[in-house]
Amino acid sequence: MGLLAGTKFDRPPHCDRCEKLESECTCPPPEPKRKPPEKQTLRIGVEKRKHGRVMTIVRDLDAAENDVPELLKKLKNACGAGGTIADGNIEVQGAHLDRVRAELQKIGYKVKG
Ligand SMILES: [Zn+2]
Repeated sequence: MGLLAGTKFDRPPHCDRCEKLESECTCPPPEPKRKPPEKQTLRIGVEKRKHGRVMTIVRDLDAAENDVPELLKKLKNACGAGGTIADGNIEVQGAHLDRVRAELQKIGYKVKG
């Protein structure tokens, strides 16, 4: 038996939750930490882009605290329009300020703009 046997230097990595060896652990990955929408204020606005295209932009979304792709899906459904995520902001095609505001407020976000 080596000198280090049984000490923490000898201990293979264990899961914090089930305390099994990490190689045997079947715990689901931890849920990402989300901030409640009620504690967030988003800025929305309509922007003109080249070729006369108009986009409704949602800003101040923290990607670590929000499920941005899921939110994009909801906004696209609410507006019946296409959309994308660009530079961490949600962009919905067309001028949909009122619908975007209503949808975000329905979820619980505070909305500026
Ligand atoms: Zn585990």
